[in-house]
Amino acid sequence: MKRKKAFISGISGQDGAYLAKYLLEKNYEVVGGDKIIQKKRLWRLKELNILNEVKIVKFNLLHIQNINRVIRNGKFDEFYNFAAQSLVNKSFNSPIYTSDVNSLGVTRILEAIKNFSKKTKFYQASSSEMFGNIKSKKRNEKTNFRPVSPYAISKLHAHWMIDVYRSVHNIYCCSGILFNHDSPLRDNEFVTKKIVRDLVKFKKNRSTCLRLGNIHVRRDWGYSKDYVEAIWKMLQQKKSNNYVISSGVTHKVKTFVDKTAKYLNIDLIWSGKGLNEIAVDRMSKKTVVKIDKRFFRPNEVNQSFGDSSKAKRILKWKAKINLDKLVKIMCEAEINK
Ligand code: GDP
Repeated sequence: MKRKKAFISGISGQDGAYLAKYLLEKNYEVVGGDKIIQKKRLWRLKELNILNEVKIVKFNLLHIQNINRVIRNGKFDEFYNFAAQSLVNKSFNSPIYTSDVNSLGVTRILEAIKNFSKKTKFYQASSSEMFGNIKSKKRNEKTNFRPVSPYAISKLHAHWMIDVYRSVHNIYCCSGILFNHDSPLRDNEFVTKKIVRDLVKFKKNRSTCLRLGNIHVRRDWGYSKDYVEAIWKMLQQKKSNNYVISSGVTHKVKTFVDKTAKYLNIDLIWSGKGLNEIAVDRMSKKTVVKIDKRFFRPNEVNQSFGDSSKAKRILKWKAKINLDKLVKIMCEAEINK
């Protein structure tokens, strides 16, 4: 049978790297795109031992000729778009760049597929941030969106564009509305990785202090490696569709701190409120966690909670790794670094 050929834009990121590994295991030919070709940006592929198994090409969501050329020449069976300005906090200061990459970038890809490679199946990495602060609890594909950040608005633009290209131009395209999903390959800017990294450092030197913003927000966390399986399954269905991918369980950021500390045998004593809330290590009496207003967001999604029963029903997918397991996986990787 002919080998399937897939393109992964943003292959240097967490999901791009895990998906590349997953597709290689399924005997795909994998081509990856990155906006800058630099070996050090590909450390995740190296860590997964697949650096020499994928071809990397320059791919910039701002450059239409570049996108047209890659898609016209590649004739890919499947195209997975993970390239994005993915930091919510940064989007408040860079709304134009965020929209150009996350919104128009996706339209540029869809146009290229429509014009040069109509059979290519397209996956877009959408985000639970698009739901924003809506009242209803669990969010599914039918829930209304109420985005509260330039990042979320930019992702919603792309999400709705997918619906247009599917219904008007008959393109096979899927939007995966993924709730937070983390792993040892997460960037340090994301809260889970920052917590694990700093608490492991504290465990070693008893002096590092973890500085966090709002620890009372809730997130629905899963494991990235688990979630790329759902992403692949979306493109294997007869008809393209949109899916919510989540663990279905929500926890406070503070709970993630507590679980990580517990796994590392750090006994935390919490006291204070608001900006004065701190956690002290019972043994050394040193301060382990402090609240720092620099890490608060101008607008916050206070709680997030996904309902992926559609993915369960159609894709036969459900999250396998719960928060305790995720903490263990991330801590062990950080300790063994
Ligand atoms: P996001 O949900 O995709 O934006 O993922 P993050 O991991 O960046 O943030 C998850 C939640 O943790 C958000 O509600 C943040 O406001 C909250 N948070 C609290 N302190 C921090 C911090 O120091 N860094 C980050 N990135 N988030 C923090």
